[in-house]
Amino acid sequence: MNVYVCYREKDGISLSNTTLVMTEREIEQLIERYQSNKIERNAPGVRFCFKVGTVTVTIYNSKKVLFQGGGAAEFAQQFGSPNAPSTKRPSKKTTGTHLPDHLAKLSVIGSDETGTGDYFGPITVTACFVPASEIGWVTEYGVKDSKMLTDDLMRQMAPALKESLIHSTLVLPNPKYNELQASGMSQGKMKGMMHNQALLHVLRKMDGASYDYILIDQFAEASTYYRYLSDVPTVVNERVLFATKAEQIHVSVAAASILARVAFLEEIDRLSEIAGVTIPKGASSKVDQVAAHIWKQRGEDVLRSMTKWHFANTLKAKKKLT
Ligand code: MN
Repeated sequence: MNVYVCYREKDGISLSNTTLVMTEREIEQLIERYQSNKIERNAPGVRFCFKVGTVTVTIYNSKKVLFQGGGAAEFAQQFGSPNAPSTKRPSKKTTGTHLPDHLAKLSVIGSDETGTGDYFGPITVTACFVPASEIGWVTEYGVKDSKMLTDDLMRQMAPALKESLIHSTLVLPNPKYNELQASGMSQGKMKGMMHNQALLHVLRKMDGASYDYILIDQFAEASTYYRYLSDVPTVVNERVLFATKAEQIHVSVAAASILARVAFLEEIDRLSEIAGVTIPKGASSKVDQVAAHIWKQRGEDVLRSMTKWHFANTLKAKKKLT
């Protein structure tokens, strides 16, 4: 069964139907809760029907409840009944940008990248698993979006996170980045491949431990993301969700953002050592100055080996040489 193909073309939103069997009490609660969303459906055996967003829910006299439409599987997940074990866990086909309720409290593998806009240094990607039972201390520890924390604080936090949480950090060295870029590969595709690989590593390290969802900090439409991976042999595509600002949605993505950032900073430290000068982050005019300095002192090849060479900074630095 090729699950991947069936949702890749739907912008990542599952269009599958989900059927649950519910108890009388659960059904009564459902009807009460969604009374104002009621729609008329005079089909045989139908007790109640309602619509929430793109999801249509039909409750049958048989106590079967049918969820249909975009995001149906995600929506149905919150009503999983103990009487229907197959629906207790989120559907394996679930993917997309419709986020399930209470996502922040579930066991999630989060994934985030950094370094994409920096002239110096690599792209780094981290995937990090935070099971529901660990969310409390990780949050109390101060884990949040890396953009809201200082570099120093993140460096201090990283060791405990690395020790306690299953994670994988990938670094794309600048020479490799430049080679791929020169061959015509987009930065988006590089990122996509790195996210997928980091997730594969984490899943392998988890060794079958259960999780509810994978949440990727969204840098492309889900359909684009899977297109980037069309020639990758193993694609992680079960229960994958995409969201922008995902660092603020689940602490696993925030932890991933910190670990990715610290890996980037460590690489900047290493390159600074090689260059004999403190390398600045970003792509500002300060970056042009330092680039020109390295070019003069160490030559073009050394500069190239530590930068994203196709950035406009290269030309700007070159102009400073004369
Ligand atoms: Mn991000």
